[in-house]
Parts: sequence; structure tokens; C-alpha cells
Amino acid sequence: MLVLISLHVVYLKRATEWFNRPPADRTMDDLPTGFGAWRRVFTALRQAEKREEQQREELAKTLARFTEASSALTDGIILLDHADKIEWCNPMACQHFELNAERDRGFFISNLLRRPAFTEYLLRGDFSKPLEMNDPARSLTLSIQMLPFQERRRIIVSRDISQLMSIERMRQDFIANVSHELRTPLTVVSGFLEHFIDSDTIDSGKRRTIEELMLAQTMRMRRLIDDLLTLSKLETQGEPPSDEVIDLAQLTRAMIDEAGALSDGKHRIETGNIEAIAIRGSPDELRSAFSNLVSNAVRYTPIGGRIVIGLVREGDVLRFSVQDSGLGIPAEHIPRVTERFYRVDKSRSRETGGTGLGLAIAKHILVRHGGRLDIESQVGKGSTFHAVLPAMRIDTREQVGLSTPA
Ligand code: ADP
Repeated sequence: MLVLISLHVVYLKRATEWFNRPPADRTMDDLPTGFGAWRRVFTALRQAEKREEQQREELAKTLARFTEASSALTDGIILLDHADKIEWCNPMACQHFELNAERDRGFFISNLLRRPAFTEYLLRGDFSKPLEMNDPARSLTLSIQMLPFQERRRIIVSRDISQLMSIERMRQDFIANVSHELRTPLTVVSGFLEHFIDSDTIDSGKRRTIEELMLAQTMRMRRLIDDLLTLSKLETQGEPPSDEVIDLAQLTRAMIDEAGALSDGKHRIETGNIEAIAIRGSPDELRSAFSNLVSNAVRYTPIGGRIVIGLVREGDVLRFSVQDSGLGIPAEHIPRVTERFYRVDKSRSRETGGTGLGLAIAKHILVRHGGRLDIESQVGKGSTFHAVLPAMRIDTREQVGLSTPA
């Protein structure tokens, strides 16, 4: 009897000790097998412990999946408690607000995001619209939306809209530029027309001068519209350029003739190396790109200057090059001259009939053909514009009978 009672006491003690240990410190092996009623008790305990362990594992797995998914989100998410203290945030929110998920847990959000616009947004309590918050130092614009949930708890969702904003700015600049470019010649034409209406008699010599000036202005508008249409066509064309075979050597020679016609004897137009190359692409587009480079060389090279046009293959690229001994471009302007309407010298560009879109068009066309526009320039010495195309566009089936440096 005494032995039986002692055994019960021992099993009771083992079971109590086991229960009192934290779950992480106890294993099922610590439980004795027991006998009689105790065997059933210990078996039931083992089964309950096993179920709990499985549930813990499931929960840990779900939590790991959730954390992984939240790291993949491109939006930032911050969970706030009822007092607006940070409970949890995902990596993107840490990036957006320069937070540290571990260090900043439990801190008031208003103490960490000390921006007047954000504090005001929190205080106002009207979260029907998102808040746009700018960080000029990081060129970052965030759209922040506060979402109330449960009782007095909230979620902050942040989205990086910097790119959207810069596209919007570009759109506004573009509209402003186009309007300005069109208004200038229109003002001139309408001014002359008013003059015609107001004056009863204009002598024929003066009349002719005015008509010529009006014609020049309308042609300027026309060139601008043509260039805008070309650019818009290039931009909206999703598909790659056509795949026709183009005799580039022949096109280069045509460009030399075009330079001669544009220069009208005011420059020395020279033929550089012209290799016999045929490529696959869009003839109209490449002609337009090359022609813009040639027209620029003529327009930005003073009378008596020299222009050399050539076509060579160098390793895995081929270059159509236009070299001039003109004004040159200051180094800080070079990266920007392919932007629409960007001009180094506005008055000179307009004087020579420029629309400010030629290089934007040329670059677009070359990029569409897998190439690029390289610019070398020195102020006072001149510039070389290289239309660079990938040699893999070379058409090897066609034989072009040309290879004559002049
Ligand atoms: P634009 O119609 O004004 O010539 P482009 O897009 O063709 O427009 O050229 C942009 C700017 O780049 C020009 O306004 C000019 O300042 C500069 N530029 C282009 N080509 C040359 C060149 N060959 N020599 C010097 N500057 C040039």
C-alpha cells in the first residue's frame, strides 16, 4: 500500500514539475510511461503536447510566410496600436520612412515621422484622401494612406509615386513648351495680319517682305508640328522598327548631298570613310535620324567651317558620324541636348529654324534600332555626333558594291 501511495506521489510530482516547465524546456521524453491510470494520463499528456507542438509549428510557418510576403510588397505597411505606437512594419515602410523595425517598435509614429504635413494629417483625422509627402533630399514623393481598423487601431500604407510625379512634371513642361513654341510664330503672323487690316495702303516692296516673314513663321510652325507628330508616332509605336534592308553606304552618300544642299556652298563638306554596309531596319526612320544630325552640323557651324560625314564598322558596332568644326557644346549641356526642347542657345536654334526636337527624334530612332547616340564636343572646336548601331543588324546576305573613302 505504502509503495503504491509513494508511486502515485512520485508520478504526481513528475507530472506537476513537467507542467510547470516552460514549453520550450520540456520534451515528451521527460514523461515516464507510468502504469495503470497513470499510463493513460501520461499518454493523453503526450498526445496533447504533440498537438500543441504541431500547432506551434503551423503558426511559425504561417508567420514566416506572412513576413516573407510582406517583404515582397512594393508598398510600405505600418501597423499602429490604439495609441498610434508602431507595432510592426514591413521592409518597404522602413525604407520609405527610414525606420528600423526592431528599434522603433513601441514608439509613437508622430515622434518618428516629424514632418509638419504628416503631423497635420494625423491631427486632422480625415483619411478619406491620401497625403502626398515630399522628401527633396532623397528625390522621393510618397502617397500615404491611413486606414482605420479594429477599435482605434490603424494601418499606414505608403507608396512611392516619385516616378509618377516626374512623368506628370514632364507632361506639364511639354505642354508649356509646345504652347510657347507655337505662340511665338502665331503672334508674329497675327501681328502682321492686323497691320495689313489697319493699313489702307502698303507699298508692294514692304508687302512682299511681310509676306515672306509670315511664310517663314508658318513654315516654322509646320516643322514643329511635323516633328511633334514624328516623335509621338515613334513613342506610341510599340512594335520594333521594320526589318527592311538598307544600303547604309548609299544613305551616307545621300546625306553628304543633303549637307551640300543645306549648306549652299557656305561650308566645306567632306566625305570620310564609307564602308560597304547594309543593315536591317526602317529606312524612313534612319534617314530622319541621320538627316537631323546633318542639318544640325550645317546650322551650328559658322560659314567657312568643315563638315565630315562617314560610315565605319568598329567591332560589334557601326557608326554613322557627322563631324563639324562649329560652335561646340559645353560639357554640362551634352547629357541634356537630347531632351525635347532643350537648347544650348535658344536664339541661335530658332534663328536657324530649329524646333528643339531633332536630337530627341534621332536618339529615339537609334534606341529603337538597338543603338545609341554618342556625342563628343569641344566649345569653339566643334562636335562629332555618332549614330551607333549594333553590328548584329548588319545584313550579310546583301552585297553592297561600295567602299570608297573620298
Ligand atoms: P534644334 O532644333 O534646337 O537644333 P536639336 O534637338 O536638334 O534642336 O538640338 C538640340 C540642341 O543641341 C540645339 O539647340 C543646340 O544647342 C545643340 N546642338 C545640336 N547639334 C549641334 C551641333 N552640331 N553643334 C553645336 N550644338 C549643337
